[in-house]
Amino acid sequence: MTKDIKNMDIVSEKIQQLCQYASQEVVYYQKMFAENEIDAASFKTERDFYRIPFLSKEIIQKERGQLLALPYQRYPKINHLIEERSVGNQGFYLKTFWSDVDYQKAQDILDEQRYGIFGVDNEQKYCCFHTASYKDNLIIEPAPIISNHLVCSIHNNGLAGEDISQVYDILMDFSPSYLVMQPSIAYQIASYINSKSLTAPDKLRYIELTGEELSDQYRSFIQSVFNICPTNSYSMKGLHYIAHECKRGHMHVLADNVYVEVIKNGSPVFDEIGEVVVTSLTNYAMPMIRYKTGDFGALSMQECACGNKSPVLKILSGRVAGFIPLNSTDFLNKYAIKGLLEYTNEFISNAVSQFKIEHDGLSITVTHRLKPAYHGWEKAVEKEFYETMKKDCYKDFQAIRWNHVFV
Ligand SMILES: [Zn+2]
Repeated sequence: MTKDIKNMDIVSEKIQQLCQYASQEVVYYQKMFAENEIDAASFKTERDFYRIPFLSKEIIQKERGQLLALPYQRYPKINHLIEERSVGNQGFYLKTFWSDVDYQKAQDILDEQRYGIFGVDNEQKYCCFHTASYKDNLIIEPAPIISNHLVCSIHNNGLAGEDISQVYDILMDFSPSYLVMQPSIAYQIASYINSKSLTAPDKLRYIELTGEELSDQYRSFIQSVFNICPTNSYSMKGLHYIAHECKRGHMHVLADNVYVEVIKNGSPVFDEIGEVVVTSLTNYAMPMIRYKTGDFGALSMQECACGNKSPVLKILSGRVAGFIPLNSTDFLNKYAIKGLLEYTNEFISNAVSQFKIEHDGLSITVTHRLKPAYHGWEKAVEKEFYETMKKDCYKDFQAIRWNHVFV
């Protein structure tokens, strides 16, 4: 169902406020609004909002400096920036920024949802996984565990081969009340527990899965091992949580944090499949307005028995989880290889703008889109990757076919 263009709703105050701010404080939007004759101060209906061109991953890569709001480019706000880096399902390297205050607001919205539905609060202990760590805008050597009395974050290099036993030991020692992780990681841990006939951490009462598509097979296996029905969610760097599953199994949009559209043939639709486009209502350091996520899904206004009136988002093809065989006995979680590529890229001055991993049996093909200035650096890129891999203990693995494309 395409939205009736004659009967557009009034846009929320949050959208009006964000667009006005962007038009005044963000150089990218100042220019783009001027080029498209968009006057954010007179925004009234969704029709006005839908005139804003989409924000793509390529634009974020190219215009990052101009997307950072002016107040956050100078003291004191520059000291309150949080950097997030990501590699999405299309392999684009993206760097986004938050202010610490806005990030906390987005976290508070999520916490309220978790507490309201599942009784989980931020005073309870939890475990998660991390790839890269950054300090003062530089990548730092991965800490195997980052923990305090409430959070234990485990580096994802513990997800290959025999190291999974150590991950299990860490979980048991820390004894978390809940877990937040990718479905493939939860599946791997569940498989280990199942194969060794071990028990799950005894205080565990909630498992939240995010970052990848959750298949029915993974969901039911994780549930059978942990005896907890996992909660699915949809999140993205720079936007925080976009949708969160209720007890009726519907992913409700976190409407206080984001405004979600599903776009088909350039127009917003309901109950039809299209690309998921998200506007952050919370991130004012680097406003992301009408951001094309690259994921596909459908949005519906169906009534849900849980009482949540927010639209329900069904993600159809998200970030697909998977494992890559390293040899006849070991395998590597795709999430871990993304982390390795992220490190490699950092050490060669962000030469890579996009990559694609394909695997077939025992070999992996990595296609890199390299910036043209890096002609002649192909071997250096490969060497750096293998060095990073060695540091992370995948010593004997050299079976990558490289395909370097300069664009
Ligand atoms: Zn619901």
